[in-house]
Amino acid sequence: MNENPQKKAPFLSLRWILLAGYAVAGIVPLLLLSSTMLHSVQGYFVEERKKELLSEANVISGQLTSSGFLFNKEARSDMEEIILETSQNGDFRVLVLDSSCMVVYDTGYEDVGKTYLLPEVIQAMDSRDTAKEQENGTVYAAASVMGLSNQRSGVVLIVDGMKDVQDIVGDIGKEAYLLLASIVALLFVFMVAVSKVFTEPVKNMIGIIKEMAEGHFERRAKVEHKMHTELVDLAIACNQMADQLDKVESTRQQFVSNVSHELKTPLSSVKVLSESILLMEDVPKEMYVEFLHDINSEVDRMTAIINDLLTLVKLDQKEIPLNFKETDLNQLMGGIVKRLQPLADVKGVTLETDYLKEITADVDEMKLSLAISNLVDNAVKYTPENGTVKVTLDADHQHAFITVADTGIGIPEDEVNRIFERFYRVDKTRDRETGGTGLGLSITHATIMMHKGSIKVNSKEEEGTTILVRIPLKQQSVTQA
Ligand code: ADP
Repeated sequence: MNENPQKKAPFLSLRWILLAGYAVAGIVPLLLLSSTMLHSVQGYFVEERKKELLSEANVISGQLTSSGFLFNKEARSDMEEIILETSQNGDFRVLVLDSSCMVVYDTGYEDVGKTYLLPEVIQAMDSRDTAKEQENGTVYAAASVMGLSNQRSGVVLIVDGMKDVQDIVGDIGKEAYLLLASIVALLFVFMVAVSKVFTEPVKNMIGIIKEMAEGHFERRAKVEHKMHTELVDLAIACNQMADQLDKVESTRQQFVSNVSHELKTPLSSVKVLSESILLMEDVPKEMYVEFLHDINSEVDRMTAIINDLLTLVKLDQKEIPLNFKETDLNQLMGGIVKRLQPLADVKGVTLETDYLKEITADVDEMKLSLAISNLVDNAVKYTPENGTVKVTLDADHQHAFITVADTGIGIPEDEVNRIFERFYRVDKTRDRETGGTGLGLSITHATIMMHKGSIKVNSKEEEGTTILVRIPLKQQSVTQA
């Protein structure tokens, strides 16, 4: 057997695609959800802190305004202490700036004397107090300090690095991602199990189909309830295919053994006859003639078998279409009866016809003629002297009906369904005497099927057999002559 030459990409397998699908559908939304949640938690903390810092700045600025911090140098040291304490309690840095935005006091002591031209400071100085988060996460809250004539004469600036918020959010993030990682791990185990349930039966079926390709039809796919509906259907279809192939294979083997057996019998007779005559001395001429006569009839029998086989083989080659032509069925039946009348006469069987209508139908005249001849021939063959064979032709608006009824020996009930099988004969010894090959009805059956018709048998032993054939009057695609 040829291996598939195409290289398979391992990650294109159903299993990996399913895993990737589950991953995208399960993990990605979880990741997005947790990062969005973290973002909003952080946003919430920052907003809250901004409000807090602004109110702290306002409290300090109120104290500075009332103490005249910017103008009264003596009051400064008390105030500086209070501001330093507030700054230490809140873990943030406080700066006091004068009207020219120069730092006059800094709890960090670093920037005294420097000018802070920050947008928040300018805004507080100009119009309103403001708190804003910077790109590095630090929050600036600025509140104006009022001067003597109720003018904005300075600014309190609180700078908070938000380390605590970042720590809290970092902790929540760590926990969230740990939780996510465990969910992902669990999900992965689950996905592997689920995809296995999905792909295992498919792999099993692939194995079975490969075996079938190598000619082994014994194994069947398991049909389990835990499988998905489509997989159950697939397994059932796979098993039906295996059954069918198994049947075809055993029919084929049976057929070959039947053919060999059928040809072996006449060949052995020829061998025995020719050998015995060769071994005899001074054989009289009459004996030669008698033996040659027997040999000749065995050869005729083999020829008949081979001709029937060839006809069947041709019918089996479905690509060779039948030659459908509009044909007068009354004429066709008349021809058959005329040809078989002498046989009926010899046997003392009455051959009757009853053509109820003038019927034309799209048929392959030659093949249908042979098929119906087989039926009439059998009816005459299997009807004893003084019996009757009646051939009827009728039709409705869609089908033609041909009936061949005899008052002959009939067919045992349990064998009726087998008579269309190749080489099947009810009574082998008797049928050898009648000269039958056991292929006639197979040819008839195949021909009627190719006409998209049907064939049925009613039979009773010792009473007779009726064979009913139905064929459509019109074939869908009629070959034009
Ligand atoms: P054969 O060439 O032996 O007649 P067929 O395929 O035509 O082979 O028929 C198969 C078998 O069916 C026959 O051998 C015979 O036993 C049985 N059979 C067919 N037609 C009749 C009939 N009209 N009456 C009784 N038996 C029949």
